[in-house]
Amino acid sequence: MQTDLYRHKGMRRALVKQLREKGIRDERVLAAIEAVPRHFFFEGAFLEQAYEDKAFPIGEGQTISQPYTVAFQSELLKLKPTDKVLEIGTGSGYQCSVLLQITPHVYTIEYNRPLYEKAKRFFKAHHLHPHTFHGDGSEGLPGYGPYDKIIVTAGAPGIPKSLVKQLKPDGILVIPVGDEKSQKMLRITRTGENDFTKEEFSNFKFVPLLGKSGWDAGV
Ligand code: SAM
Repeated sequence: MQTDLYRHKGMRRALVKQLREKGIRDERVLAAIEAVPRHFFFEGAFLEQAYEDKAFPIGEGQTISQPYTVAFQSELLKLKPTDKVLEIGTGSGYQCSVLLQITPHVYTIEYNRPLYEKAKRFFKAHHLHPHTFHGDGSEGLPGYGPYDKIIVTAGAPGIPKSLVKQLKPDGILVIPVGDEKSQKMLRITRTGENDFTKEEFSNFKFVPLLGKSGWDAGV
C-alpha cells in the first residue's frame, strides 16, 4: 500500500515552487501537480528521484516525463474542467493523473502492452477513471472524438493530419515534433473547418512516437 505522507506533500510543494520559478503560471496545472503523488509511479527506493525535476525510466525503454515537461504541455493545453482530452502515450499514467485533476473526461492510449496493463492496474488501484486504450495512437482515437484537447507525449516526426481533424472548433493539439535528438513543442489550434494556427515553443527530448504516423512509418 503506497502512502502519501506529510513529507511527500512537502517535497511536492518544493517541486511546484521550482516549476513556478521556471515560468509555469497556470494555477490549475500547478494545483494538479501538487495533488498527484508522483512517488506512486516509482519503486520505493527512488523516492528522492520522484520529486526531482527529471524524467525517469519506467521500464520497456520508456520514461515518465520530467515534471516541467508535464506542466509545460498541460499549460499549453489551456485546460478547462469541461474539456474532453485525448492523451497519446499513457506511459506510467502520471500525465494522465495530472489531467484528471482538472477534467474527468480523459482518454488515453498506450502502444506498449505491458505499460498499458500496468497503468490500467494503477488507475484501478487509485480509483481513477480515465478511458484507457491499448494500440497505436499516432492517428488518434477517431471513434471517440472529437476532442477539445489532444496531448502527444512522445516525439513525432511530423504533425499527423488525422490528429488535427479530431479537434473540436477552437480545439488545441500539443505535440513535440522533430528528429530523434530534439523536438520543438508545437501548439496547433483549430480556428475553422480547414484552418489552423501553429505556435512554436522550446525544444525537448522525448522517446519516439511509434506507429503509422510515427517513426515506424520510416519518415
Ligand atoms: N505520459 C507518460 C507519463 O506520464 O508517464 C510519458 C510517456 S513516455 C515519454 C511516451 C509513451 O508513448 C511511451 O509509453 C510509449 O510507449 C508511448 N507511445 C509511443 N508511440 C505510441 C503510439 N503510437 N501510440 C500510443 N503510445 C505510444
